[in-house]
Amino acid sequence: MTTRHLVGLITGVLILAILLPILLSIWLAQRETHKQFIAEQEAYASRVLIRTGQVMNQVKSALKQMDALKNPGCSKTHLQEMRRLSYSWRYIQEVLYIDGLTTKCSSLENNGNTFTFPPPDRITPAGYRAWYTEQNDLGIKRYMAAFASEHHMVIIDPISLIDVIPFSNNTTNVALISTSSNRVFSRSAELDPKILLRIHKDQLTTLTENNVVYTVRQYPELQLSILTWSSTLPLSERLHHQLLIWLPAGILISLLASWLIIRVLRRLQSPRQRLLDALNNADITVNYQPIVSLTDDKMVGCEALARWKQPDGSYLSPDIFIPLAEQTGLITHLTENVVKTVFRDLGKWLHLHPEIHVSINLSVNDFHSVVLRTLLHQQLRIWDVAPQQIALELTERGFADPNTILPAIAAYRRSGHPVYIDDFGTGYSSLRYLQDLEVDTLKIDKSFVDMLEYAQVTPYIIEMAKNLQLNIVAEGIETPCQEKWLREHGVHFGQGWLYSKALSKETFILWAENNLSAHGISAAH
Ligand code: C2E
Ligand code: MG
Ligand code: MG
Repeated sequence: MTTRHLVGLITGVLILAILLPILLSIWLAQRETHKQFIAEQEAYASRVLIRTGQVMNQVKSALKQMDALKNPGCSKTHLQEMRRLSYSWRYIQEVLYIDGLTTKCSSLENNGNTFTFPPPDRITPAGYRAWYTEQNDLGIKRYMAAFASEHHMVIIDPISLIDVIPFSNNTTNVALISTSSNRVFSRSAELDPKILLRIHKDQLTTLTENNVVYTVRQYPELQLSILTWSSTLPLSERLHHQLLIWLPAGILISLLASWLIIRVLRRLQSPRQRLLDALNNADITVNYQPIVSLTDDKMVGCEALARWKQPDGSYLSPDIFIPLAEQTGLITHLTENVVKTVFRDLGKWLHLHPEIHVSINLSVNDFHSVVLRTLLHQQLRIWDVAPQQIALELTERGFADPNTILPAIAAYRRSGHPVYIDDFGTGYSSLRYLQDLEVDTLKIDKSFVDMLEYAQVTPYIIEMAKNLQLNIVAEGIETPCQEKWLREHGVHFGQGWLYSKALSKETFILWAENNLSAHGISAAH
């Protein structure tokens, strides 16, 4: 998987990780609201049912109270009693004195007129006759409910059976329906007859249709159903409103969080950060490649070469991470690490072998670093090593700006450090400038050593270095032929796989102990 894919994947996962809880909480909130909605509606239906019961109890009490009167029917005191009752009992509109189905007198008027009611619609379990009729003694065309004992009748407005104000914020409607005939006695709003038919046919207690929730409650005493209903649309609207506010906010937060995390991840993954981690975790170690005298085969010193061990065990080439350190401003940090490691590894050994030197590769910036200069000075003192034992290599390209580099080099040389020109011949400071560069040793690059027989220029480099009284180290000697040629042309020192590759501290010390005396090298290979 490429880093781009990985970043994409992480972004996706992050967005999901933030959006999912938002969506889940919205869903839970919606479910909770819906539950609350149903609970509110059921509570309302129950309250309506209680009201119906209260009204019916009042009807029954009124009839009982009137029947208990001893006064003769339609007498002055009887009439007064009827009026008092209808006046003071909240739900009762009219009280009538009847004989069979015919009215004799009423609490409302007493003009001697009589009115005959149709036969009752039904008899309640308590034995009262019940009507739901438009016909009445007042001639007003309006459906009213009437209940009668043998001699008394009370008239109530059917709306009083269901006249309950809902507590909820939603508009809730209610209707009173005959369970047997499915006729609507009273309702607070229009009701779809098809819905009514469905509820009746399937004997439903709840129904949700076209975003409207219907709840049915039975009042068996009067064979009545109380139907309550309200629309869930305001709920959805509220939810959509909330979604409009929270979803963009959630997406924005998740994008922001993703962006931040990706930035941190990228930084953590950046080559500079990885190099910095390696420096801080001491993952960069130093190997030592011996440098031998071509005149007597004695080891005269070594070159410290940085190594970066990767998590998979392989080593990243310094040709890659040194330019990276230079570009990212970490080179002096790296060189400081190398210097410390060199002294930790070989400080004691160098003190015991003052004739041996270690050459350390420096970049241009290192020459200007006061911290590095102080560190070197400190280490020399701590380990009691002579400055002559620590040579400093600078590649030929490092001399591109001689005006600034030469004073720094001169300062190091004054302190006693030999300075080498590394990779000589690969840069552009050509032979012409060689005499102006105040250095001690010239390292001929491996590419010249590889083509000794063909390169016409190598003898001239050697000759000029000799004239300038510079030491010469030939790099990358791999064959005895190369060694022979160089020796014949008066090159003083050699470094290469012919003698040894760069070695770890322990192996190097072992190798060095074996090759400190002359004539050992050829035998060792
Ligand atoms: P260099 O300073 O010219 O080091 C010599 C390079 O040639 C080393 O490569 C060494 O392992 C390799 N070499 C030596 N003998 C032979 C041989 O016979 N055959 C072949 N094929 N190669 C040979 P290495 O260690 O890979 O280092 C590469 C370059 O990285 C070095 O070239 C040096 O310029 C730079 N470098 C290494 N360590 C440091 C460091 O601590 N600081 C700085 N600034 N640069 C460093
Ligand atoms: Mg070097
Ligand atoms: Mg070199």
